[in-house]
Amino acid sequence: MARPYNFSAGPAAMPADVLQQAAAEMLDWHGSGMSVVEMSHRGKEFGAILDAAERDLRDLLAVPGHFRILFMQGGGLAENAIVPLNLSRGGSVDFVITGSWSQKSLKEAGRYCAARIAASNEADGHTTLPDPSSWQLDRNARYVHLCSNETINGVEVHELPDLEALGSSAPLVIDFSSHVASRPVDWSRVGLAFGGAQKNLGPAGVTLVVVREDLLGHALKTCPSAFDYKIVADNHSMYNTPPTFSIYMAGLTFQWLKRQTEGSLSGVAAMQARNIAKAELLYGFIDQSSYYTNKVAANCRSRMNVPFFLHDESRNEAFLAGAKAAGLLQLKGHKSVGGMRASIYNAMPIEGVQALVAFMRDFEKTQA
Ligand SMILES: *Cc1c(COP(=O)(O)O)cnc(C)c1O
Repeated sequence: MARPYNFSAGPAAMPADVLQQAAAEMLDWHGSGMSVVEMSHRGKEFGAILDAAERDLRDLLAVPGHFRILFMQGGGLAENAIVPLNLSRGGSVDFVITGSWSQKSLKEAGRYCAARIAASNEADGHTTLPDPSSWQLDRNARYVHLCSNETINGVEVHELPDLEALGSSAPLVIDFSSHVASRPVDWSRVGLAFGGAQKNLGPAGVTLVVVREDLLGHALKTCPSAFDYKIVADNHSMYNTPPTFSIYMAGLTFQWLKRQTEGSLSGVAAMQARNIAKAELLYGFIDQSSYYTNKVAANCRSRMNVPFFLHDESRNEAFLAGAKAAGLLQLKGHKSVGGMRASIYNAMPIEGVQALVAFMRDFEKTQA
């Protein structure tokens, strides 16, 4: 029987091939006689898993040699503290506020450094993207924080800003938790990128950090050793026991991503083409309908997280129950926004979006 389509914002759907491979390897990984969960992280088996995961990710995201890839724990929220602990050097930091996650990041960073707002879309209800030319950047900022995809509000930065062109020499820090590997990254514009794995890469438990080498080694004295990027990098993400099973599952996803093709495209470029097609289908349907709306400005609509509202909000429960019966799961919107949210990450095939649109069309008809 076909599995239902799962629109969860995170932890989220994973490719069925990856789940099947993990199931097949659960009791005996590659003839080792052990499950990955039972292996020493210092053994050669897990060493091979970690090395392959790092290599495949570097390859997939075209991460340049002067960036280090770290597998950490604590999720995106811990990074809200770990980044300022490592990069703020007792100075001040600029934040671009685009939604709930950047607001959380600002608040947490304020515990460790002077955190100031360089731009904000709060007055628009987090439905727009302040144009980079309007950002009030501090020349002395240690870094500029930007959430490149706001998972809750559905706002995505489709082109990363060129801070240098804006007169700033600060490194750009992006929280790419909810769209990592959905499109290529322009590393020439980034100093550090972080993201929890549970949206678009694998199970919860592992946090990916990609950091430019020159930003290592400046942690505050109060930074826990296990969260000091230089210590983590020097120890090849094994200063303490890493989240072995989550790294393994993310590694299987990286291999799956590398196998994906779309026309002449492969890997992340293929995913980007698919994600554009999926998002166009869903937004296109919502925009032509008088029953559903999405409030985000067209130039910054997320291709991963699509919040939408029913014209008659009293029908929300009926919509969710009908969707579930049709095999469309976890469409309830985030409580701070309300309505519905369809998260259509890499693992969601176009058929899932087609099924959602067909259901929405039918539901609208029964309301007429
Ligand atoms: C989910 C999410 C987080 C928080 O991740 P945790 O793993 O729960 O700490 C942070 N930032 C963004 C953009 C997210 O989508």
